[in-house]
Amino acid sequence: MSKLMIVGCGGVASVAIQKCCQNSEVFDEIMIASRTLSKCEALKEKLQPTTKTRISTGAVDANDMRDVSSWIKTWHPDAVLNVALPYQDLTIMDACLDAGVHYIDTANYEAEDTEDPRWRAIYEERCKRLGFTAYFDYSWQWAYQDKFKEAGLTALLGSGFDPGVTSVFAAYAQKHYFDEIHTIDILDCNGGDHGYPFATNFNSELNLREVSAPGSYWEDGKWIEIPAMSIKREYDFPQVGKKDMYLLHHEEIESLAKNIPGVKRIRFFMTFGQSYLTHMKCLENVGMLRTDPVNFRGQKIVPIQFLKELLPDPASLGPRTVGKTNIGCIFTGVKDGKEKSIYIYNVCDHQECYKELGSQAVSYTTGVPAMIGSMLVVNGQWQKPGVYNVEEFDPDPFMEALNRWGLPWVVCENPKLVD
Ligand code: NDP
Repeated sequence: MSKLMIVGCGGVASVAIQKCCQNSEVFDEIMIASRTLSKCEALKEKLQPTTKTRISTGAVDANDMRDVSSWIKTWHPDAVLNVALPYQDLTIMDACLDAGVHYIDTANYEAEDTEDPRWRAIYEERCKRLGFTAYFDYSWQWAYQDKFKEAGLTALLGSGFDPGVTSVFAAYAQKHYFDEIHTIDILDCNGGDHGYPFATNFNSELNLREVSAPGSYWEDGKWIEIPAMSIKREYDFPQVGKKDMYLLHHEEIESLAKNIPGVKRIRFFMTFGQSYLTHMKCLENVGMLRTDPVNFRGQKIVPIQFLKELLPDPASLGPRTVGKTNIGCIFTGVKDGKEKSIYIYNVCDHQECYKELGSQAVSYTTGVPAMIGSMLVVNGQWQKPGVYNVEEFDPDPFMEALNRWGLPWVVCENPKLVD
């Protein structure tokens, strides 16, 4: 029996919260703690009559370490699940250390203000040293390793789908299928259609920052960066069909390069339709994807934040999205001296997710593993003092839980490879 404090009440959080409520044997109490109290209360009102899990709510400013810490000290959870925004990762980690509880998240730290000179100096040094220019990387959170170790607390990083399930797939392939993995291609296909000319499936500010950035991949011990969307492949996805996909930088490449011994190449591909790419290019060309403040009639406005206000709320896409996602990894390597390849993937149907929880599949595929990671931390199966990515733990209980909690997976031998 355990208590989980969940920070955030958006698309992903609402799935994680509902899955915790389905799993009352583990989570007998949860607290929904987010910026807008009315959203937390509305969700509590909807869910409380349907679950044995006792639900509390609180208005929390996750940018304020003291506010988060004082809620933790008042409410005494066993762990905090951060499904707010990556901007808040470090304050929430600090609050967990201050109040003495475990920490779980789904996305690595990203600076909200990319013009902040203190952040910028560290970022520019890292770009030169490592060779990729994404605004997010693991160094900020890995730097908490000793603090969490000394406090005897676990910080579990990246327990969503990608990163998260894809990283656990890598640990599972390593444990059961290979002596050495040589290449990993992570393929993220969303074959869903929401009917809008342009919308994003999760927080649009984060999504657009991610996909408009230069792509990069890991090969022979170093990063190779390429212009955004300049490597394109077509793949025939089981249960979805043929889609164009583009090479992107993605955060799990960084942790898998460190944690999968002997890996020679890791790439990440995501599918995009032509209409999405044309809209994004146009928005970028006119300056709407800028992350720095501009003066507008005496007020400072960050264009990408303003754009977020204009676009459909990803949490509202559920009823109108049809089709399926297929996300997984193709591994090549050797076992018992022979070359082999496998593809592990999950297929998730947008409308099935909507019927079950009122969400589309992108929130669903992230919220379910967020609940599973939290469960494994609070029940002790994945507790180890320090800061760890999901692939650093035994993948078996996580893989079993995926089947049980709505994300069944398939292992396919000798798949078609990506050239
Ligand atoms: P949303 O924008 O839908 O939700 C974010 C929530 O965080 C909102 O409820 C928001 O409050 C709350 N929030 C924002 N700022 C604060 C603050 N200062 N204090 C307290 N609460 C705050 O985002 P998503 O649900 O789409 O994404 C959530 C997380 O999941 C992100 O970190 C994202 O990167 C990650 N993600 C990970 C994926 C993976 O596979 N690993 C895939 C998709 C997303 P309010 O309601 O007031 O706006």
